[in-house]
Amino acid sequence: MASNEVFPDDFSQCVAFHGHVCPGLAIGYAAVASARAMLGSARADDEEFVAIVENDSCAVDAVQVLTGCTFGKGNLIFRDWGKQVFTLLERKTGRAVRVSLRNRALPGNEERKALKAKIDAGEASQAEQEKWDELRREAVIALIRGDPVDFFEVREVTVETPPYASVVGTEPCAGCGEPTMRSRLVDTTEGLICKECAQVRCSG
Ligand SMILES: [Zn+2]
Ligand SMILES: [Zn+2]
Repeated sequence: MASNEVFPDDFSQCVAFHGHVCPGLAIGYAAVASARAMLGSARADDEEFVAIVENDSCAVDAVQVLTGCTFGKGNLIFRDWGKQVFTLLERKTGRAVRVSLRNRALPGNEERKALKAKIDAGEASQAEQEKWDELRREAVIALIRGDPVDFFEVREVTVETPPYASVVGTEPCAGCGEPTMRSRLVDTTEGLICKECAQVRCSG
């Protein structure tokens, strides 16, 4: 993808974090923009916001950068449902906005998929490779410059506010001796052991 492309600063921050420009990242960027338009500006320096993401694709990196909801802070909740759906919840007001990517929302999607299959199979010509790059670039531009309504269904929803991430104590595992969060230890006849040790014991 062309490196001389001029992107908005906040998208460039997402790219710096994620490592490359791709339509997936742009989906996350545009999804957050849509949620913000409904909620008002939303960035979580601590835990004022919670993001619930229903996939672990490139898009989620943009969500983390733009909302400040991160895996490490515990205010990014991952549901492994394989959908481009993002819910942003504001703790203070309890308001939540759910953003879902519309079916066939991205321009050139079918053609991109067909070209990608050829590329992966090692059967694409130079021209086809370039066409694929071009279509990706178009999709990225459309997402970050376009009207989010064209791409997403956005609505307020009611979700239960998850508890704040709590700091819990650790204890050494009776198997390997490594300090482990107490809430994650498994109670066995050999004492409290970590999940890793428990797994080894089950499969071995
Ligand atoms: Zn990516
Ligand atoms: Zn252990």
